[in-house]
Amino acid sequence: ASPTNTIDPTRESVAALYAAMARRLAVVRGRLRRPLTLAEKVLYGHLDAPETQELDPGRAYLALRPDRVVFQDVLGQSGMLQFMQTGLDRVAVPTTIHCDHLIQARTGAADDLAASLAENGEVYGFLRSAAARYGCGFWEPGAGIIHQVVLETYAFPGQLLIGTDSHTPNGGGLGTCAVGVGGADAVEVIAGLPWELLHPRRIAVHLTGTLNGWAAPKDVILYVAGALSVSGGTNAIIEYIGPGARTISATGKTTIANMGAELGATTSMFPYDDWMARFLAATGRGDLVPVIEQNRDLLVPDPEVEADPETFYDRVVRLDLSALEPHVSGPHTPDLARPISALAAAVADNRDSLVDHLSAALIGSCTNSSYEDMSRAADIAAQARAHGVRAAVPLMVTPGSDTVRATISRDGQLETLQEIGAVALANACGPCIGQWRRADPAAETPNVIATSYNRNFPRRNDGRATTMNIIASPEIVTAFALAGKLSFNPLTDTLEGEDGTPFRLAPPQPAPDVPSQGFLSGTRRCVMPPADGREVVVAIDPASGRLQRLDPWPAWDGADFSDMPVLLKARGKTTTDHISPAGPWLNLRGHLDRFSDNMFMGAVNAFTGETGRGRNVLTGETDAVSAIARAYKAQGLRWVVIGDANYGEGSSREHAALSPRLLGGVAVIARSFARIHETNLKKQGLLALTFETPEDYERIGADDRISLAGLRDLAPGRAVTCVVRHGDGTQETMALRHTYGAAQLDWFRAGSALNTMSRRRAA
Ligand code: SF4
Repeated sequence: ASPTNTIDPTRESVAALYAAMARRLAVVRGRLRRPLTLAEKVLYGHLDAPETQELDPGRAYLALRPDRVVFQDVLGQSGMLQFMQTGLDRVAVPTTIHCDHLIQARTGAADDLAASLAENGEVYGFLRSAAARYGCGFWEPGAGIIHQVVLETYAFPGQLLIGTDSHTPNGGGLGTCAVGVGGADAVEVIAGLPWELLHPRRIAVHLTGTLNGWAAPKDVILYVAGALSVSGGTNAIIEYIGPGARTISATGKTTIANMGAELGATTSMFPYDDWMARFLAATGRGDLVPVIEQNRDLLVPDPEVEADPETFYDRVVRLDLSALEPHVSGPHTPDLARPISALAAAVADNRDSLVDHLSAALIGSCTNSSYEDMSRAADIAAQARAHGVRAAVPLMVTPGSDTVRATISRDGQLETLQEIGAVALANACGPCIGQWRRADPAAETPNVIATSYNRNFPRRNDGRATTMNIIASPEIVTAFALAGKLSFNPLTDTLEGEDGTPFRLAPPQPAPDVPSQGFLSGTRRCVMPPADGREVVVAIDPASGRLQRLDPWPAWDGADFSDMPVLLKARGKTTTDHISPAGPWLNLRGHLDRFSDNMFMGAVNAFTGETGRGRNVLTGETDAVSAIARAYKAQGLRWVVIGDANYGEGSSREHAALSPRLLGGVAVIARSFARIHETNLKKQGLLALTFETPEDYERIGADDRISLAGLRDLAPGRAVTCVVRHGDGTQETMALRHTYGAAQLDWFRAGSALNTMSRRRAA
């Protein structure tokens, strides 16, 4: 079968989407009878059942029909492996896979890409073949970072897109409602199921004025992060409205939307405007613009909303762009934001362990490598070059895509940056996600780097806790690189030219938002799938150490579970990262068995206070929790985990449910659950149960055995009987609660949510 492109948006598909949105919105407007925000229009326009859907922000779960799914290469592995369990031949919505996270930064673009192709060839081969087999687009290594590629190719106003990466909201700069999700959610949507989302609350950032001088879109989001904090956007969609929003380019909006993830926001969005039309046209999608214009009312908030935001949003932040000073944030958290005029004093006081000397500077990434960004950074570099000044510390540039790289190579920005010493890295995540193999000995002691990236948690960049990351706009980071120190304020301080004459950098000239000659498309692109992929063989070597085919989980056999040991009683905060750590395990995401050796590595054992270790009740020996689970499984012994309050908070990492399922777990019994993890456990066929009396948590001992009775009668709202046989021989009965609906109970009985769907399909 010849390749087919059913993946790119077309005039017809966009028009059909808007027509469907309008139909659904008419139903919802009839119910609510009030003006709607932009996020409400897009979400309600994608409801699975607009007539009956509960619409209570912060409480109801919306069943939505996303238009598109994107996977990065790490979660793309487990995503496609799970999709293969369904037995379906083709994904249900346009889907693409992007090879960006696995590429390591060492010396420079060409060598790093070649090394990555050699190191990850097996994984790329699998992703390429799985994409062809199941009808997905495959963006090959070097083509770019997922979010930049989505922006250049797939994002458009009013679309609902989900992606397996937390910075998926990047697409909000083009008016897409783009949400980062866990792999399980993405798999269900490509399998044709609706997607559940906690109805987001509504936050508005009302912008007036115009950015000027050194101030850049990055400073808007750094300011907002400081104002709202890293949790201020949790379960909310942030809309940027007001006349100031219409002064920011589409890619500037994108930087702001991207970093909404730092506030915990579900996503961030901008209303449609002429900047978006210009960017769509410059990236080869001008044919969509007339359709978009005809449907403008769907793609902006209702006029009453913008006129009186305090009435229609749960919270409003107001910001005058004209008065905004450049900001820097960090170290260690993106909401530690300061105006640049306050940084030198913070460094002098050694506040937050800041040291003056910079060890490296990095610009670009999915967050800040637009044509405008690179032009403004190059403007600063050109001024330095004119005075014979080069970067005082290593300066690296990460283009967001091959399109960006090719275009800034043609137009000279990259060369200008290279002339002051910059090194171009591959069009990939690299130092933004800990994939920076940094040879510099400076990294081994406490050191500060400046980046225009988005996250600055310890270990985020070079994997070392000793490296602190200060985040700023690309032009400010370039200025820092020239000075080699953090206390340098380019707005007021001078540099020394090669002739010894001091000079001050002028603010970067306003830069074009899109290149006057248009974007170059680069050499690395999307590989389209064949029209019929059924003949394609998906490449998985049974002996592989990186990939493992997943078999469907066995269905429940209908019997109660008796006398199960407590594998772990977790105490205190138990996030999905404690249950299923990431970091060095990244490379094993496609091999569930090997990956599961990390299970519960970060969880605190309530019986001993140790982390990640427990006692095998069969042998009495102490071991890693995952090793004990394997030992029980080898003996055919099922087990339970006891959890504390809000068990499973944090990211939606589905491996935190997949690993317990693989290693023989039956149930997690907790004081309470974080909702997403609770659902993930249910989807994998595990029982997620809570103590009816939370204090019963204290009554579970290390040598207790747990029986769950009456499971045949399991029904929505009906308690489960738990019989606890204590180590001293006494016995007691506890009532356990659950939140399973009727359909979710089918997941448990069938073995998993995907099994339920496969069965339904086969029936
Ligand atoms: Fe995530 Fe950084 Fe890659 Fe962007 S560049 S997708 S933020 S890891």
